[in-house]
Amino acid sequence: MEDCLFCKITAGEMDTDFVYEDDKVVAFEDVNPQAPVHLLIVPKKHISTILELEEEDYSLISHIYKVANKLAEAEGIAEDGFRIVHNCKEEGGQTVFHIHFHLLGGRSMQWPPG
Ligand code: AMP
Ligand code: ZN
Repeated sequence: MEDCLFCKITAGEMDTDFVYEDDKVVAFEDVNPQAPVHLLIVPKKHISTILELEEEDYSLISHIYKVANKLAEAEGIAEDGFRIVHNCKEEGGQTVFHIHFHLLGGRSMQWPPG
């Protein structure tokens, strides 16, 4: 997808340091971290919002949660707990229209979210 920032990042065109990569996803640090640990887990496939998932993509979402668990262990936030956030469209707070999951931890989270 032309002009998609996360397509460029996942393709390795932006010199982003990946903390994790496999054939389906990459994970990297959010440029504007909201917690001591703030990673983005991003599929290599361009899907603009979670509403555009096709039947074959649902297994990708469970894979992302598997990667999130691994990363939470690796980052040392599994024991105390963490938050996974997915924003959908404008009112959900989505600013990059290539789906991604935020993995946040290292501090106490508040509820309700803003
Ligand atoms: P969202 O608002 O849920 O769409 O999340 C987009 C996230 O991408 C925000 O938390 C941004 O800080 C982050 N972001 C934007 N550009 C970059 C970049 N070049 N590298 C890392 N994170 C980025
Ligand atoms: Zn994309």
